[in-house]
Amino acid sequence: MSQYSVDEYGFYGEFGGAFIPEMLYPNVEELRENYREILASEEFQQEFRALLRDYVGRPTPLYYADRLSDAYNCRIYLKREDLCHTGAHKVNNTIGQILLAKKLGKKRIIAETGAGQHGVATATVCALMGLPCVVYMGEVDIARQAPNVARMKLLGAEVRPARSGSRTLKDATNEAIRDWINNPVDTHYIIGSVVGPHPYPDMVTRLQAVISEEIQAQLQEKEGRPDPDVLIACVGGGSNAAGTYYHYLDREHVQIIAAEAAGKGVDTGESAATSALGRVGIIHASKTLLMQTDDGQITEPYSISAGLDYPGVGPLHAHLFATGRARFIPVTDEEAMEAGRELARLEGIIPAIETSHALAVLAKGAVPEGSLTVINVSGRGDKDLQTYIDYFKLA
Ligand SMILES: *Cc1c(COP(=O)(O)O)cnc(C)c1O
Repeated sequence: MSQYSVDEYGFYGEFGGAFIPEMLYPNVEELRENYREILASEEFQQEFRALLRDYVGRPTPLYYADRLSDAYNCRIYLKREDLCHTGAHKVNNTIGQILLAKKLGKKRIIAETGAGQHGVATATVCALMGLPCVVYMGEVDIARQAPNVARMKLLGAEVRPARSGSRTLKDATNEAIRDWINNPVDTHYIIGSVVGPHPYPDMVTRLQAVISEEIQAQLQEKEGRPDPDVLIACVGGGSNAAGTYYHYLDREHVQIIAAEAAGKGVDTGESAATSALGRVGIIHASKTLLMQTDDGQITEPYSISAGLDYPGVGPLHAHLFATGRARFIPVTDEEAMEAGRELARLEGIIPAIETSHALAVLAKGAVPEGSLTVINVSGRGDKDLQTYIDYFKLA
């Protein structure tokens, strides 16, 4: 077994596990007992692959970025997850989980969302499958993410405000968990990244691994070899990165880079750079690296990018950091915004600001000259247009 795979107890090295309240045990245990067999079954794979092809639009292109490559003296391919239906990689996971939920006989879906992207991806697949959908969202986030709230409602989902605590993502997560405890038989909880109790990190990684599977085949076709020299992705919770890395984890000659959000700077107190600032603790029922005070209270993270504004990372990423398998590079708001504008001007692709963090690694000199590099373009920038407008004073 790979040292980067989850073990039978749900751990990656010292990270992971399922630190759940006893009342949640039956729900999580049902998933743990069934997920591998269902995901591996021919019936699931056929349905999953057909929807990825016909509904999501996979395989997404692996595009050789000529002008960007010239600018950095290396050979850069962009994996175009921004071209997925709904505009980002998140739908790979929600399609997989809703199919799994149906196999388990579930009749109702719940989810938590911060910026609203995962809520939209969940509401989308619930509409597709005709299942009722409740999305928990902090009251503060509802106010600042109005377009995504409208999308979820248009798609037929119910958006329930979380009114406790800081009224943001962690409070929405608490509400979702409470709902799940009260509805253990008929409800599936779709978590949006490689976080939460085992088996979620492994389950979501396997569903997103279609990204690295495609990269291997596409590089083989275009370059005559499946491996790049360098792989780059941004890490919020870590699902697009886990999917980009998955088939390369044991191929140690492939250098893996994770871009994390430094916000205004790692030492400014306004950051979300978990590898730089985090210590071992438990968040969302998983032992991982997280930003916390000396007495263990979770620190409020900050990033210009709503999707990277998370105080922890999934346990796989904590393990990749601890073992040195992945190199973590903090990227500031400013560096990311410049990199996003650069991609727009050199390639005609406006990236999500999350993705701009991955692109910024180039200007930081982290990629050796001449190397064959793949960068995962996790999403498109339409949702971030107002942020680009305000930042660059475009209007
Ligand atoms: C949500 C999101 C992310 C961050 O989530 P991960 O689980 O770390 O992938 C990154 N990019 C985009 C476009 C997103 O919507």
